[in-house]
Amino acid sequence: MIKLVLMDVDGTITDRERRVSTEAVNAIRKAQRSGIMVSLVSGNVIPVMYALKTYVGIESPVFGENGGIMLDGDSVQPFFDITKPRQFFDTLLSMGLAQGILTNRWRETSMGYAPAKGMEDRIVKMAAEYDVEVANSGFSWHILNRGQDKGFALSILMRKFNLKHDEIAVIGDSFNDLPMFKDGVVKAVPSNAEPELRKIANLVSERSHGKGTAELLLRIVRSNQ
Ligand code: CA
Repeated sequence: MIKLVLMDVDGTITDRERRVSTEAVNAIRKAQRSGIMVSLVSGNVIPVMYALKTYVGIESPVFGENGGIMLDGDSVQPFFDITKPRQFFDTLLSMGLAQGILTNRWRETSMGYAPAKGMEDRIVKMAAEYDVEVANSGFSWHILNRGQDKGFALSILMRKFNLKHDEIAVIGDSFNDLPMFKDGVVKAVPSNAEPELRKIANLVSERSHGKGTAELLLRIVRSNQ
């Protein structure tokens, strides 16, 4: 019996152009009506997660900044500090290795950047010296604290709602979703997911992106009945 579905946003509940999929929204609402908790975890910022939660009608807590910060009802709870990510970000800027991104003005626990051409690998190697991690969502690059990943968000929800691994399904399409693909959880991916994710998935949709995720959610709802 699945009690919680934790999902990525970009490429998972959107189409390939990042527009929210109406099929995915309808499936989220249907899953919630069936009694399943639905939560989102994204590299994006809390104001964006607030908007998704409000306008899609998501009842459970949602996470921004790759799990670094949670919106639960009216309370916003950061779990990490922005000091180290910001220090590394400032270094990248001063060395001309990267540029900032729009959403940095709303960040509380991480920083986003666009690498200068050909500098991707050099930045990844430098991150270790600064005791931070970098992750690429496929849509943007993020500087994060160690341990700040989607698996962390999953562990918060498991503790909060007293859930076991086999009561949880996760849906995502990129490498930054791997930390929530824990042993024992149902791993579901839309067909556009990276081959490495498709290989370890329990469920792969026929359609891609948000339409695929809608299909996965409806399969999960049915499997509970
Ligand atoms: Ca994604």
